[in-house]
Amino acid sequence: MTGQRPVIIAANWKMNTTPASAGPLAAEIATATQVAGVTRVICPPFVCLGPVGAALAGSGVAVGAQNVHAEPAGAYTGEVSGQMLAGLATWCIVGHSERRRDQGETDALIGRKLLRCAENGLRAILCVGEQFAERQAGSAEATVRNQLEATLAELRRHDSGLPADLVIAYEPVWAIGTGLTARGSDAAEMAQQIRHILAAAGVPNGGRDVPVLYGGSVTSAAIDEFLAEPDIDGALVGGASLKVDEMAGIVARAGLTAVARGHA
Ligand code: PEP
Repeated sequence: MTGQRPVIIAANWKMNTTPASAGPLAAEIATATQVAGVTRVICPPFVCLGPVGAALAGSGVAVGAQNVHAEPAGAYTGEVSGQMLAGLATWCIVGHSERRRDQGETDALIGRKLLRCAENGLRAILCVGEQFAERQAGSAEATVRNQLEATLAELRRHDSGLPADLVIAYEPVWAIGTGLTARGSDAAEMAQQIRHILAAAGVPNGGRDVPVLYGGSVTSAAIDEFLAEPDIDGALVGGASLKVDEMAGIVARAGLTAVARGHA
């Protein structure tokens, strides 16, 4: 049953754009993606959150951060806290594979980032996904299970559960920025598996209310395969999200899904 879950297209701009270029690009994307029933989110670099927020005011497109520090405040030079983001963003990507790889982020650390999001009114998009060798070895589901269970364990250690408004992005690491995509059926199977894990962990309504997005080289040409799957609720888009035409095509396709699922 997908009727209660929103259809979401979230843009991850990664380390691209500047404070001067980000606002105009966000405004162009907002104008080109006015489609009923689709939740749109743009996640620019930290330094572009202000200009993007100003450009998107009244557009219906939400602003998200790409990361948040795991601690509330303190001697963490160069870092950005949840409290700093409140007012600049309403969403936040957490546990992106590029941060797991480059900054050594662990599942426990990612769990604490979820806490910071919840404390500061940031709707988290939690990224999980396997390496290519893990998929080839048949252990993709075990990898994602381990990621989710370790993150949940950290939340429990802090007397917390998953945030009620959590969004999960299934992003096979080998598909990110490579031009390779998972098969729609594999992504859907993983989305089902994610909800089974959440159900086993006691998440309300067996995880059926948690939107699961697909991410990994999504383009306007590739999105169809994923949105055709009832278990997939949208996409986290990297490279293609910097192109207005691509975003227009992706959100237009998501609009068809929104209509089919009774959101528009
Ligand atoms: C991402 O940044 O989460 C992502 C999926 O990137 P890309 O679409 O470029 O693969």
